[in-house]
Amino acid sequence: MPTLPTTPIPSSAVQPTELMEPSPEILSSLITMLGNWPDLLGSDLARYIIGAGVVFLVVNWRLAGPLTARKIRKDSAGWSQIKQEILASFRTVFILSCAGLLIGTSYMMGWLHVYENPAEMGWGYFAFSVIAIILLHDTWFYWTHRLIHDPRLFRRFHRLHHKSHNPTPWTAYAFDSGEAAINALFLPLTLLILPISFLAIFVFTSHMIIRNALAHCGYEVYPANKQGTPLFDWMTTVTHHDMHHAQAGYNYGFYFTWWDRWMGTESPEYLKEFARVSPSPRRNAMQGSDL
Ligand SMILES: [Zn+2]
Ligand SMILES: [Zn+2]
Repeated sequence: MPTLPTTPIPSSAVQPTELMEPSPEILSSLITMLGNWPDLLGSDLARYIIGAGVVFLVVNWRLAGPLTARKIRKDSAGWSQIKQEILASFRTVFILSCAGLLIGTSYMMGWLHVYENPAEMGWGYFAFSVIAIILLHDTWFYWTHRLIHDPRLFRRFHRLHHKSHNPTPWTAYAFDSGEAAINALFLPLTLLILPISFLAIFVFTSHMIIRNALAHCGYEVYPANKQGTPLFDWMTTVTHHDMHHAQAGYNYGFYFTWWDRWMGTESPEYLKEFARVSPSPRRNAMQGSDL
């Protein structure tokens, strides 16, 4: 995580009229943050490469054999698709680093409720803030995702992501620039209203990239119960998002199934498809004995 220099300037020190044109404080903060831009870019790039790379190496390469029965599609994406996904993701990383620049400058101006010592507001609040930001992000993602599926916006904002009809972990950041900007805006907007520590932001972004890369890995890695339904049915599974790439119009959610179920946008075939790709020897034996 890049370090942000100096103590924030108290917001009371900035008069409303000074916001009309860039004040020396804003320019000074911006220039300082521009000096930190390589760090911001590096941390966003590292998050993508490590998150997508670890899931790719562990699931799609090391565990591909043991997980054969859990592979969702028969075919696999080729290297040319992966190359395009990585190139598009570099642009997303650049756009996310611009949001980091905005966050860093705003932090130095004292406009955001971000703090360095994670224990400052108590560990109970720390846990609450992590859960709250994940829930807020799930809501942001669901509704902006539905918005960019509108035919008037789809081609400009979301077509590139769906070019990966058969996704890979590298699809995680493969966005059009408009979609990347929508995703990048979430954190600065949230930090305007939610006091949160840098460590909580790190936990949130780490969880985000792992869930994102897993959602695109093509193997059902989430556990099933005896009936063949997801053990944690309130969480989205790999099948859930994979079906969105196969059959757009359903399954818009990111982390949780709640919004899709509340809004009636979960595929009616979802649980059947999940059961198909999460076979268990015990359930198969029980089904065999029923025959
Ligand atoms: Zn979509
Ligand atoms: Zn996707």
